[in-house]
Amino acid sequence: MRRCPYCKVEISGDLTKCPLCQSKLTGNGEAACYPKFEAQKKQSLYYKMQLAIVWGLLIVGIGLDFLVRLRLPGFPDLHWSLISGMWLIGFEFGIMRQFKPGTGSAGKVTMMALITIVMWCVTAYFFGLMKITVNLVVPIALAATVTANFVLALLDKNGNTMAYLLSAMFMGIVPGIISFFVSEKMPIAWAICLMVSVILFAGAVIFRGRAVAAELQRRFHV
Ligand SMILES: [Zn+2]
Repeated sequence: MRRCPYCKVEISGDLTKCPLCQSKLTGNGEAACYPKFEAQKKQSLYYKMQLAIVWGLLIVGIGLDFLVRLRLPGFPDLHWSLISGMWLIGFEFGIMRQFKPGTGSAGKVTMMALITIVMWCVTAYFFGLMKITVNLVVPIALAATVTANFVLALLDKNGNTMAYLLSAMFMGIVPGIISFFVSEKMPIAWAICLMVSVILFAGAVIFRGRAVAAELQRRFHV
């Protein structure tokens, strides 16, 4: 057993430094008390590698764009490196959330879907793709998010998924209704998104009725 000369405590295991004061321990160590976390170390190496690559891409992009003034054909005034930088930072944020404990997969799916939708809208705005985005891409992405959350809600035993399912439906239903009243004809993708949301809401009530009721009560205090 090793001993810390300052804290006057004996430390079992193979530690070489005092866990209290970080001083060097004296005496002979013994077999390790805790297993080594090799998986974590490896994960952290991959994490650092991709972080370095993303950081490199970010800097190279900004350099080519602002210093060399390399522009995309057809978009002479567009600072494309800021858009690609946004995607890289969004990607990094997504990776960070994957490693973060305590968030369920429904939370991750919903969060990433929303961030991706917002980033896509920004990109589409600068590339002049707003119409197809609003009429097609956003409703399809929302419908896909609702569907993914519905599957997760059926698998989930702890009821942590219902909140995400209902809020994703809310995001699918409300803009659909708005577009119904604003424009004469609802874009077909919004109609599909609306129908998917309503069908899956009925499915959630049928299969997980109690969880739906509990979640609505919690959200709206009824
Ligand atoms: Zn000590």
